[in-house]
Amino acid sequence: MKIILLGAPGAGKGTQAEVISRHLNVPAISTGNCLREAVRAGSPLGLKAKDDMDNGRLVPDDVVIGVVKDRIAMDDCKNGYILDGFPRTVAQAEALEAMGVEIDRVVDLEVPDETIKRRLSGRRVCEGCGASYHLDYKPSKQEGICDSCGKALIIRKDDEPATVQDRLDVYHRQTEPVKAFYSAKGKLFQVEGQEKVEDTSALVLKALEA
Ligand code: ADP
Ligand code: ZN
Repeated sequence: MKIILLGAPGAGKGTQAEVISRHLNVPAISTGNCLREAVRAGSPLGLKAKDDMDNGRLVPDDVVIGVVKDRIAMDDCKNGYILDGFPRTVAQAEALEAMGVEIDRVVDLEVPDETIKRRLSGRRVCEGCGASYHLDYKPSKQEGICDSCGKALIIRKDDEPATVQDRLDVYHRQTEPVKAFYSAKGKLFQVEGQEKVEDTSALVLKALEA
């Protein structure tokens, strides 16, 4: 199965992508994580992406499309994959189609802007390995310390309140049209994000079986 997870920043795409990944035993591919890794490594890709990411803007289509193209060509993707955070523009969706990729389902996580703002303020990431946590929803065992690598947890620059509103604006303007793109193909399944992660997961898995 090839699945796309759509939704605003902080809607919980990453968490649900992991759930589906375990359920279907296919990799979850997060373009945000790929780009952050490149930034940490200081690679040419990272240098191209950093400024846009820090400021809550989208990285140029050709850059992200290149990342996805390389990633889905890898061996572990032959039985399918979950795309988390891609496509984020109609041009990216068209590029995926042009690569000959047949998407089975698009799950759109709907979460109101006010909830998003509250959630993003509690998000923390590990500066060492990039693992994601949340003060309320997914706390680390020891406050401020990564469970998997022991490094410090920090607030992502783009999770600072001033940048969050910009990211929501970008989402509404550039990413929401992607819903209509897939809805017209009969592939869009909308799920209301619930207060509890497990409740959302149950709805997401149901959408995959429907
Ligand atoms: P979130 O979904 O919480 O915004 P991500 O980790 O998915 O976070 O993305 C972080 C940033 O990475 C985005 O704000 C954007 O700058 C960049 N990015 C990720 N995916 C894409 C994409 N498909 N197209 C353009 N930029 C992207
Ligand atoms: Zn870590």
